[in-house]
This record gives sequence, C-alpha cells and structure tokens, in this order.
Amino acid sequence: MKTLFERSISGRHCTILPVSDVPECTPDTCREKPLRLPELSETDISRHYTELAKQTFGVNDGFYPLGSCTMKYNPKVNEDAAAMEGFTEVHPTQKASQGSLRLLKTAEQYLCEITGMDEMTFQPAAGAHGELTGLMLIKRYHELSGHSARNKIIVPDSAHGTNPASSSMCGFTVINIPSSEDGCVDLDELRKAVGEDTAGLMLTNPNTLGIFDKNIKEITDIVHSAGGLCYYDGANLNAVMGIVRPGDMGFDCIHLNLHKSFSTPHGGGGPGSGPVGCKSFLADYLPGEKIVETDGKLAWCDRGEKSVGAVRSFHGNFLVVVKAFAYLLTLGRQGVPEVAKNAVLNANYLKHLLEDTYEVAKPGICMHEFVLTLENLKKETGVSAMDVAKALQDYGIHPPTMYFPLNVHEALMVEPTETESKETLDNAAEAFLDIMKTIKENPESLHDTPHKSPISRPDEVNAARHPKLRYHFDD
Ligand SMILES: *Cc1c(COP(=O)(O)O)cnc(C)c1O
Repeated sequence: MKTLFERSISGRHCTILPVSDVPECTPDTCREKPLRLPELSETDISRHYTELAKQTFGVNDGFYPLGSCTMKYNPKVNEDAAAMEGFTEVHPTQKASQGSLRLLKTAEQYLCEITGMDEMTFQPAAGAHGELTGLMLIKRYHELSGHSARNKIIVPDSAHGTNPASSSMCGFTVINIPSSEDGCVDLDELRKAVGEDTAGLMLTNPNTLGIFDKNIKEITDIVHSAGGLCYYDGANLNAVMGIVRPGDMGFDCIHLNLHKSFSTPHGGGGPGSGPVGCKSFLADYLPGEKIVETDGKLAWCDRGEKSVGAVRSFHGNFLVVVKAFAYLLTLGRQGVPEVAKNAVLNANYLKHLLEDTYEVAKPGICMHEFVLTLENLKKETGVSAMDVAKALQDYGIHPPTMYFPLNVHEALMVEPTETESKETLDNAAEAFLDIMKTIKENPESLHDTPHKSPISRPDEVNAARHPKLRYHFDD
C-alpha cells in the first residue's frame, strides 16, 4: 500500500483558502524550503484512510476470542454517554460539577458492591497500573505496621506477566509457585512459600486457565495466617461478577479492568481504567483524593498523610468510568450476573464443540475461557499453535491468545465473551474443525498461513530489533 507521500501529486489540494488580508511574510521569517507535505484531494485522503482501516481487524469485523483480554462488543450507547458535553467539557478542579462527582461516587459504590470492597480509587489508567498501586498499598501497610521486612510477593505460575512485573517494580521479590495438576494453586507449595517475609499473594480467580480455584478460602487463609495480604487481579471478573465477590473470597485489595469487564473498546491500546478497591483497613493508603458528602453536596477531600500519593493526575480516565457507569445502569442488578453466566456458557459451549478434536489443557467445566494445548499435535504433525492461530485468520477470525499461560505448552487460550451468538460460536467451531481436517491431510500447507490477509507472517524479531521509524525520501 502506498503512503500519503507516494500518493501525492504536486499542486493537488483539498482546501480553498480565502484571500489573505494580512501582509505576506518577509523572506527572513520564511522557512528556506517549503514544508514537505503530501498534496492530495479529499477523495485521495479519504480512500487512503479507508484502505488502512480495512487492513485491521477489530470486534466490529468478526469473532475476536483473545483470551485474558475480553475483547467483547461494547454498546455504542456508552460512547454517546461519554461524549456528552457535560462530561467532556468539565475541568477536574471545577468545584461545581456535582453531576460528575455523583457519577464517580455512585460508580465507586456499585463497583465496591460487586467486588465486596469498601473504598476505591479511579486514578490508575490500566490493570497493570492498578496492580502497582495495589502493591504500593500493601507495602505501605507493612511499613507502617513495622513489618518492612515483609518483601516477598507470591505469584502462581499461571499468572499474567504483569503480576510479577508489577511486584518487582514495586520493590518486592517475586516467589513463583507451581500450580497443581488440576490447574489450581498447589496448597502444599503455598504453605511452603509463606513465612515471616511474606508481604502478600497475587491471584487471578478464575485464573488464566479459566479455572475457579475451589480452595480459594483456604488459600487466602494460609496467606493471612502467615501475616500477608491478598491481592486479587480482577481481569477475569466478568466470569463471576454478580455471583461471587473477591471481598468474600478473602481478598484485601483488588484492581478491575474497566476496559475489559465494563465495556470500553481497548484494541488500540487505550484509554483504559484500572480502579483499585480495598478493604477499609487499607483505605487511608489509597492514592488521590476521595469524594465526601456533606449535606448532600459532594466535594474532593485529601486522604491524609498515609496515602501513597498520586499515581496519576486528578481522577484518572474519567470518561472510561462514564462508559462503565452507563453499562452498569443498562445491565442493572439482574444483568450483571447474567453477563457472567453467558460468558461461562459461551466458553463451555465452544469448548464442548472442540474437545473431541483438540486437546483441552485442563478438561472439565471451565469459566469464561479455556486453553487448548497443541503440544502433542505438534509432535505428530509439526503444526504449531502459531500455525493454527494464523490459519484462523483466513476464516475471518482473530487468533486466540497464543503461548499463554506459560504453564501450558503450545497453548491457544480462547475467550468467546458473553456477547457472541450461538451462530458465531458454531461458525468458529467449524473453522477450528476444518483446520484440523487440513492438518490431517496436508500439514505442510499450514506453515505459511494466513493466505488471505494483507500481510502473511511478518518478521517479528526483525521488526522489534530493527524498527523502521522514519520514512526516507529519495531527495
Ligand atoms: C489484561 C490483564 C492484566 C493487565 O491489564 P492491563 O489493563 O492490560 O494493564 C493483568 N492480569 C490479567 C489476568 C489480564 O488479563
């Protein structure tokens, strides 16, 4: 595809400027050479960007079962709500914006109710940022209780990569513990790992294998009796929201990914929102200001000197909270658990259609996502998880998450999400089964898939090591 500069035709333009009524610039204030800009008509520009847009793939194009990321359809009415002038034009220091404050306060109350937490901050801009913030609370708690020697965070091997990364960014040492055969936390390994130096545990439940840990109360009890705190990575909340609460599972502190569970499109990388909720004994450590109500009037109030300080300016990505709030109002008390039930139903339905043909990493009922392992298939046929993921693109399906979680080899992690129809899931299953037929008949043909997309297999290593960040003009 040509760049705008390559499409440029000298003298072509799409603006008609009025006759200048100010003096022309004098030679000493002019640039020596005219600025190099592409010269194009409006039609050229419009077609250029439409062509670019057609080369991408998003939830509006087709099935997007990217596990752990919850790439679901997000109601457009939320965008309308977030585009309302009263929200977009308000300044964060404006005292009179009672409506915006009320929205933040009510969203906090709803999300605390859903998670079983007492207070929440909307400052963090994403899940990973929330993790760092939550860990800062845990660190501060131990420091102020005279236990600064507690410097280890326990993370199971099924964890998302951001968990160990956030822990070490916060100055903790990471203790990795292996999962047991069934994909849950190995209680014996956990008992061995806790001790006087335990600051806490970070856990995703259901975990990245799509399994709800049946021992969850015992797990949080083991950590608490050793003097540690429990952090809940809420990225998978859509599997359980409205049904069970992290607060009741024994967690002290959590983050949510509003852009995953509470409907903000995030394929392009943002903006996101990773609110952090905690039990009341940690609330003084939260960052930013809190909203207090006096005689029906809301106002921002300093949290005091125990706070970890600001982790972002003002109140975070406010408009993402507006979208989440609009979504919560649409769902209501009955709709929230229904999201979870449909997410789980869809995942189990698709898994059921695939499990006779593909090997499921951990058989049995899953939550909102499941993981296939192509380890044996690769040994027998040479076809890898990457090959199957790429082949799916020829069926108009975005690849599932590949090679994650790390404790499954040749993993494909599939999360259909609650917003997909039975027909879409049936079509997806047909694509998977069709690919298996090709693997059996002609495995070699899978190695250079996809065949129908604008580019096939980019050289990812070269692209990362030697990125071309500039366009080089001939002259
Ligand atoms: C997505 C995800 C994160 C990180 O969240 P971001 O919003 O992408 O920073 C952390 N943990 C799990 C399990 C996730 O799926």
